[in-house]
Amino acid sequence: MSNNGAVREGVPGDVLPDPIPAAMPMIGAEERAAVDRVLASGMLVQGREVAVFEQEFSALVDDRPCVAVNAGTSALHLGLLAAGVGPGDEVIVPSFTFAATANSVALTGATPVFADIEPDHFCLAPAAVEAAVTARTVGIMPVHLYGHPADLTALTRLADRYGLALFEDACQAHLARWAGRPVGAFGTFGAFSFYPTKNMTTGEGGMVVCADEDLARTVRLLRNQGMERRYENELVGFNARMTDVAAAIGRVQLARIEGWTKQRRANAAYLDAQLAGVAGLVTPRVAGDAEHVYHQYTVRLPDRDGVQARLAQAGVGTGVYYPIPNHRLRSFAEASGRDLDLPETERASREVISLPVHPGLSDRDLAQVVAEVTGAVSG
Ligand SMILES: *Cc1c(COP(=O)(O)O)cnc(C)c1O
Repeated sequence: MSNNGAVREGVPGDVLPDPIPAAMPMIGAEERAAVDRVLASGMLVQGREVAVFEQEFSALVDDRPCVAVNAGTSALHLGLLAAGVGPGDEVIVPSFTFAATANSVALTGATPVFADIEPDHFCLAPAAVEAAVTARTVGIMPVHLYGHPADLTALTRLADRYGLALFEDACQAHLARWAGRPVGAFGTFGAFSFYPTKNMTTGEGGMVVCADEDLARTVRLLRNQGMERRYENELVGFNARMTDVAAAIGRVQLARIEGWTKQRRANAAYLDAQLAGVAGLVTPRVAGDAEHVYHQYTVRLPDRDGVQARLAQAGVGTGVYYPIPNHRLRSFAEASGRDLDLPETERASREVISLPVHPGLSDRDLAQVVAEVTGAVSG
């Protein structure tokens, strides 16, 4: 178990065995020491730690310029604004994702246009994207859902054919690769999140990976009230800065993410092998060009809700990502303006359940997950 001194929280009572959490931030002594060092320095916001964190992250994404911000949502929003997306534009997004994807499009004044997913990896289906292209479409924003890359070969080809930009929501996909190249480095920009449940964390935080230095400069301006030189504001911007405390945590996490990713893959391989024979359960599929990082280990089950309830009773934490597709959320149902028929999105929202796969799991935890899932599925 490589749990790095992490602690489990919220263990109720002393009768039941400790529940196995669905996700767990890996925070250890080095992160605490890094925070102490920053606090002692008195330099708390967007100083040296942030600059070095950006450089170190850049090494993971083909040396593209990186701009650290205060959340993954800000990374998406500022990336879109810097790319010139705004009112009158349409950006094609999946409906089967966290609401931040479509929110970031809507916050620019553009319209998120929801397209269906393919059933094997839960990512945007290229044919559905092509069918959604209109004269107003300016971009395609795939989500590398659960840590599995969307089909970047087909989506890049579509973007080229129709003269569209590609924006990547890589918030769940640190270190994932497609055809040997890192995700987040294919599009005009890629956005990463460092929320505590993600594969690495800074508490709150995000990173914009930019295709070129011009875009990076605009994102930097938008991040800090439109200022490069103090009080010489060039455009109307936000305060979306990352703190040095967060960046210092991120730098320690960056040194560990490769090991954690290996552990996630090993845990997934174990679950694949042990759950292969469970009737009705569909284990995750991996595309030939994909290097999956298992942000989530997501299976399909016919009686998903029943199984989830039984697993909760047995002390196995699970998650459903996502029970309501975006196009049916109150925030988008009206604005999307048409009766969308997204059958694979609907089916996935009924069938998916994510099992614990994080690097804080012991061998015993994993065996218990398998035993309880096997039992819960057979009722
Ligand atoms: C987490 C997440 C985001 C938003 O990131 P925050 O850091 O929480 O703002 C966006 N898109 C997807 C797919 C995510 O999982």
